[in-house]
Amino acid sequence: MSYTELTHEQRDIRDLARRFADEEIAPQAAAWDREHRFPREVFKALGELGLMGVCVPAEHGGAGADFLSYMLVLEELSRADAGVGVTVAVHTSAGTLPILANGTEEQIQRLVPPLAQGHELAAFALTESGSGSDAGAMRTRATAGGAGGPPLLTGTKQWITNGSYAHTFTVFAKDPDRPTAYLVRRGAPGFSVTREEQKMGLNSSSTADLALDSTPGERLGAPGAGMRIALSTLDGGRIGIAAQALGIAQAALELATGYAKERRAFGRPIGGFGAIQQKLADMQTEIEAARALVWRAARLKQAGHPHTVEGAQAKLFASKVARHWTGEAIQILGGYGYTKEFPAERYYRDAKVTEIYEGTSEIQRLVIARALLGEAARES
Ligand SMILES: Cc1cc2nc3c(=O)[nH]c(=O)nc-3n(C[C@H](O)[C@H](O)[C@H](O)COP(=O)(O)OP(=O)(O)OC[C@H]3O[C@@H](n4cnc5c(N)ncnc54)[C@H](O)[C@@H]3O)c2cc1C
Repeated sequence: MSYTELTHEQRDIRDLARRFADEEIAPQAAAWDREHRFPREVFKALGELGLMGVCVPAEHGGAGADFLSYMLVLEELSRADAGVGVTVAVHTSAGTLPILANGTEEQIQRLVPPLAQGHELAAFALTESGSGSDAGAMRTRATAGGAGGPPLLTGTKQWITNGSYAHTFTVFAKDPDRPTAYLVRRGAPGFSVTREEQKMGLNSSSTADLALDSTPGERLGAPGAGMRIALSTLDGGRIGIAAQALGIAQAALELATGYAKERRAFGRPIGGFGAIQQKLADMQTEIEAARALVWRAARLKQAGHPHTVEGAQAKLFASKVARHWTGEAIQILGGYGYTKEFPAERYYRDAKVTEIYEGTSEIQRLVIARALLGEAARES
């Protein structure tokens, strides 16, 4: 992979993340996957390195780097363990950045520094059992608190990344019929984590269901601005999920390439067979194309330009590349690829979800097609 398109600072941050991922994450990733263990200590260490708030301004406790640097960190972490990658991605893109973008000065001063420094974790609670892609169908409600008290939230949220460990939750609720964003602190009255999900992959991450029963929340942004806040958060978050997919695909490429040099069949390394060479050449080329899309979307976001379509394209393509090529990496490893002796099967399980969360691939295509076709793409 070429370094020349990156600044010195971007390369330094990328190298820092890569070293940490290689030394502290990759050697443990198989065990965390097997034991379904959330490695809390890793996030404290990442916080000390400034990697829990890479693109958060230094005055709010972050590293003050740009959005592309943050994408490079997500790729490196996900290359070692995609569960760690999604924890940091949701914590930063969906948890911390919306407070920075929509919070009052007081909310930012109070809530952002502990998140950016990795002392606390953040989560984003939009999905419910009956509303995923159709987020506007949410049933969680906010009602006015009595005697000037805070609004009270009642409802349930499903599959919330970091749910069992986060301290600050951005929760979306209708008041009475317009979605509005609220900040809820762990331990608030009526707040509970009701279930930790059993998943196909990403076993080192937490995906939990939440219940809110007249739980006090503080409003984030204007009343009725919930959908705008959710959608703009996902516009940036999707670039991060694309970077996560890229990291998984890159890990699979490195594994398959190393294996093709070592494994012998019919008296030669399997890398000597044209069929394996063609696969690896296509795999590397598509990963580089995905990386170019991720970097383009990240640069547009950093420059303050519209990036909805470019983010959707990056996620659509990078997740497809990751899902397809992790499967082909298993093929290159043959029977060993299907066993837990090698991480190819974990990469395959972890890659699949990148086509689902922060907007499914079908929803990304909808976003792209609507921009392309305008009103003609809308059903009557
Ligand atoms: C591991 C994991 C972590 C998650 N973390 C979070 C989190 O932190 N916070 C959070 O709020 N949510 C989270 N989610 C939820 C995730 O964002 C949703 O699963 C996702 O948005 C899809 O919603 P759904 O599962 O309800 O699928 P549905 O919306 O029910 O979709 C089912 C199928 O129908 C298709 N479909 C739906 N609508 C359309 C349409 N208009 N056109 C074409 N096809 C359509 C979908 O693409 C999909 O194939 C997480 C999910 C998982 C699995």
